[in-house]
Amino acid sequence: MDFSFTQEQRQLKRSLVDFAKGALNDDLAKRDQAREFSRDLWKRCADFGIQGLPIPAEWGGRGLDMVSVFYALEGLGYGCRDNGLAFSMQAHLWGVSMPLSLFGTPVQKKSYLPKLCDGRMIGSIAMAEPESGSDAFTLKTRAVKKGAGYVLNGSKTLITNAPVADLYLVFAAVEPPDPSGVTAFLVERGAPGLTVGRTLETMGLRTSPLGELSFKDCEVPAGNLLGKPGDGTVIFTGAMELERCGIPASHVGAMERILERCIAYARERRQFGKPIGDFQAVSHKIAEMKIRLETSRLLVYRAAWLKSQERHAILEASIAKAHVGDAYIQTCLDAVQIYGGRGYLVEFELERELRDAIPSRIYSGTSEIQKKIIAGWLGL
Ligand SMILES: Cc1cc2nc3c(=O)[nH]c(=O)nc-3n(C[C@H](O)[C@H](O)[C@H](O)COP(=O)(O)OP(=O)(O)OC[C@H]3O[C@@H](n4cnc5c(N)ncnc54)[C@H](O)[C@@H]3O)c2cc1C
Repeated sequence: MDFSFTQEQRQLKRSLVDFAKGALNDDLAKRDQAREFSRDLWKRCADFGIQGLPIPAEWGGRGLDMVSVFYALEGLGYGCRDNGLAFSMQAHLWGVSMPLSLFGTPVQKKSYLPKLCDGRMIGSIAMAEPESGSDAFTLKTRAVKKGAGYVLNGSKTLITNAPVADLYLVFAAVEPPDPSGVTAFLVERGAPGLTVGRTLETMGLRTSPLGELSFKDCEVPAGNLLGKPGDGTVIFTGAMELERCGIPASHVGAMERILERCIAYARERRQFGKPIGDFQAVSHKIAEMKIRLETSRLLVYRAAWLKSQERHAILEASIAKAHVGDAYIQTCLDAVQIYGGRGYLVEFELERELRDAIPSRIYSGTSEIQKKIIAGWLGL
């Protein structure tokens, strides 16, 4: 068993950290307050190659293996304090670019992937609906066959990037119900019958726009089906498998960044004539942060390694997702506590870190659903 990263992987991560620290954190407090997504920062990330990390070079990406990609994303999470930007990036990457790369026709890949990699297009994956979230595949959005194509009717909610995206990967049930089940469609912004609805106000991740979509007799040509009719379940499950370890990889980076801040603060802040880190109640909190960081890291890279071997990691991804969600939130809570009153102040940025961490137990399938998946693998 080899736990080391190669020199190229370490170099890539380091360059990502440097880039993120230097280019992605400007005006963060202001952007968070204004709930502002920055297309300029998105473009900077694309110019650096982040949106193309796992996408084959022939379609404009860097064609890296999953261990390298996740290690780079850990670097993004560490260097980029704008957790919303990192989250939007991953929704785009795992929700649209990777499914296109894995299931797209050569024509679809040629039309979309280079633009998704170089920042001209933003992707958004639309599965959740007002009446279906955890029960993801029980969709009300309907696709009725018309000629060679389909007509979509229905609505989607809680969709990351919806307000700003240029390309939507939309899941719908084919009507009349046929055994083929859920099907995936590529719908471009501006398509007649597609309305981009309101932007939803959120607790955290405020630089990542979240919104609604509705479809009223929205015609999708046959060429815009992703995969075959009925491939929607496989496409969505594959996207979630990668997203459930990709997003946690960035959380590992964020946890390390927060841990380092807490260590520095525990050394510098004095009470009762000594640094607060001398009190076991504080130092043990920090030790627990380190345990959570390292267990999270092991789980993420175990899943990443399986994917880089082109093996399934559905169980491992769910374990990583459930564990890292808890670890990340607890780390943020502890950080606020260690900083005392300052932890509660906006200017120290830990309340934002906590707000940004809260949804990690909800998106890409809630923690309860991850445990349901894990229990299912155990025969329950
Ligand atoms: C920040 C954010 C970004 C998101 N981005 C996207 C996106 O880009 N695309 C997209 O399609 N969706 C997105 N979602 C939606 C997300 O996938 C759903 O919110 C999530 O799957 C939960 O669905 P729900 O909100 O309808 O909750 P519900 O399914 O109504 O669940 C409510 C509660 O019941 C629990 N529960 C439900 N069923 C079970 C069960 N069988 N066993 C035990 N507990 C259960 C849940 O765990 C939860 O605690 C996003 C959500 C958030 C918060």
